[in-house]
Amino acid sequence: MNTIKNRVHEILDGYDTSNITIATLCSHTSLQIFHGAKKEGFRTLGIALREPPKFYDAFPLAKPDEFLCLDDYSDIKNKLDELVEKNTIIIPHGSFVEYVGPKDFKSLKIPTFGNRSVLEWESDRSMERIWLEKAGLSMPKEIKNPKDIKMPVIVKYHGAKGGRGFFIAKDYHEFERGVDRRRKYSIQEYIMGTRYYIHYFYSPIKNDGYRLSKGSLQILGVDRRDEANIDEMYKLGSQKELKSYGIYPSFVVTGNVPVVLRESLLPKAFAMGEKVVESSWGIMGGLKGSFCLETVVTDKLEFRVFEISARIVAGTNVFVNASPYADYIEDGLSMGRRIAKEIKYAAETGQLKEIIS
Ligand code: AMP
Repeated sequence: MNTIKNRVHEILDGYDTSNITIATLCSHTSLQIFHGAKKEGFRTLGIALREPPKFYDAFPLAKPDEFLCLDDYSDIKNKLDELVEKNTIIIPHGSFVEYVGPKDFKSLKIPTFGNRSVLEWESDRSMERIWLEKAGLSMPKEIKNPKDIKMPVIVKYHGAKGGRGFFIAKDYHEFERGVDRRRKYSIQEYIMGTRYYIHYFYSPIKNDGYRLSKGSLQILGVDRRDEANIDEMYKLGSQKELKSYGIYPSFVVTGNVPVVLRESLLPKAFAMGEKVVESSWGIMGGLKGSFCLETVVTDKLEFRVFEISARIVAGTNVFVNASPYADYIEDGLSMGRRIAKEIKYAAETGQLKEIIS
């Protein structure tokens, strides 16, 4: 991994840092990333399959300046020279990592925003648990043996597949009925409460605002995911009754809605973000840029964290121009724009290697 980082930093040495192109894959948060990058004066490039997606024509302020079209996502590794020539910095998002494949993505010799070692930790649920528990966050209990299921649990498969196939079980029998043993899964205590997905940005190079031992931490927004069909199931009767018709709850993300935390929860939210960042230095050399803690707040007003995404999350799309938190930092600050600002500041102050790997 370090050899890739060294090679990437050599590439960066050859960049004209006054003429950077920001690139990402045309999906997930790409409109927001391009929109923010354009606002900060960067050239933008969209990576797409076969031909430029037509829907970009409908959104001129978020349409990239140019497209790089591939026959297959894996072809990206054959286009690196072209990207390097344009002084390109890649912004990873969930679909980018998923489509190119986490392994291939990590070995791409092209400057990439953030610490790419972090992606390995977030895409494996066991590694993620080691990290978050080491950070001192309260996670849902893990049930190792399905025969020990004595309370509602959620069975989750590994990888960021948007909750597809996840299911709730209340005993071993329900687990057996629902599980697909060909896939790697984990079983977690189902936490009752309300869900909050908190969007953080950590800068190791800015020393204003909410300071950490190095750099500073921001919260730019909070969303909640719309999930089909668990969110609407209650309209049809009890889950038990629905099972007799072959209808089971599922957790497929279909959209996002903006939310705010009650203000007294903010200190806890910052403390959690702080712990995650501080612990990341020793574990994988620092989590840099955007990340999201996926939480449930219980009726005791306690956060339980069930997942971390160590990159920009799709929930930030609900705050393109403002959020109840970003508004207290700067007008018109989206997560996409915050990333562009970080790259701009690092380029101007000769610190790109601090935030690029
Ligand atoms: P994840 O892939 O971990 O983000 O989980 C997908 C969805 O399942 C979440 O957005 C939640 O709605 C739900 N979920 C995951 N873990 C838990 C948990 N421990 N307790 C309650 N709901 C959960």
